[in-house]
Amino acid sequence: TQPILELDTLRMVYNTDPGILARLTGRADPPVIAADDVTLKLHPGQTLAVVGESGSGKTTAGRIATLQERPTAGRVLFEGRDVTGLTGAALKAFRAKVQMIFQNPYDALNPRMTVGQSLAEPLTLHRLVPRTGLRAAVLEMLEAVELRPAASFADAFPSELSGGQLQRIAIARALIIKPRVVIADEPVSMLDVSIRSGVMNLMRGLQRDTGVTYLYITHDLSVARYMADRIAVMYLGAVLEEGPVETLVTGAAHPYTRLLIRAAPEHRAGKTRRTRIRLPGDAASQAGLPSGCRFHPRCPLAQPVCRETAPALAPVGAGQVAACHFAEEVGRHGLAVPA
Ligand code: SF4
Repeated sequence: TQPILELDTLRMVYNTDPGILARLTGRADPPVIAADDVTLKLHPGQTLAVVGESGSGKTTAGRIATLQERPTAGRVLFEGRDVTGLTGAALKAFRAKVQMIFQNPYDALNPRMTVGQSLAEPLTLHRLVPRTGLRAAVLEMLEAVELRPAASFADAFPSELSGGQLQRIAIARALIIKPRVVIADEPVSMLDVSIRSGVMNLMRGLQRDTGVTYLYITHDLSVARYMADRIAVMYLGAVLEEGPVETLVTGAAHPYTRLLIRAAPEHRAGKTRRTRIRLPGDAASQAGLPSGCRFHPRCPLAQPVCRETAPALAPVGAGQVAACHFAEEVGRHGLAVPA
């Protein structure tokens, strides 16, 4: 099937302000490469999770996908059409089709508006429902996100609600205009662990009912595994591996993905044991990328060739690509591959 939304060889470079001292001494910081040849494809009705640590470029990819930022180079395609340069009414029409859910539900809603007013606002903005039908549309959406009795939630103010309820309302606000795609940036990471799975299950249920497509951004591989059909692993602005969830979990071909799987929180008997991601070495910064393979300073399998030549993203299995000189060996033997 044709992707519904595609990020095509995106490059995003931020020129940092050097500051007075650096200008005087001539030692300006190098530009930050937040996205380096990033290609991601979202297929209709499916979820692509983009997984990475902070500084991986996953949030930049999400912001470009909603055209909140325009890439330095590369294209955004929606239903096969290049939308990268849209402005005015065409941009507004695009935004009605591609919505965003943010990490912090407390920032997502206007504290001076009731929940009902906040949910009615996008319907009015995009002229989708006549004024007389707004209340019914709002109540129906509150039912869909399981906030009952819907009428009391419609009349409540955000300050009267919990974080989990607010995130359900943010989801309702994104979905009430029936978008084709929702970009969700860490939508459960600020919520209490005990209510995360409820919100994730709600998002999955809404996808089943409406056929909406998700781009799900997360630092947590176990969340990605639960939510997604496919996973793309990003590191320092680049995609290092991409493929179907089960293939990546059982046969990851990139050492970084293997390390993330090892560090992911374990789900046992309904309980989640949080483990911090601990990888060898420090994440380099997007400014001043390492030579050769960008992961080589932290890679337990690094060889001399890795410091000199950057591996390209290449096919390793059915629908799976990885950027590692030793991807086939890692896919077969994991991190036990003989150095
Ligand atoms: Fe590690 Fe080399 Fe593969 Fe990079 S190319 S991930 S350094 S083995």
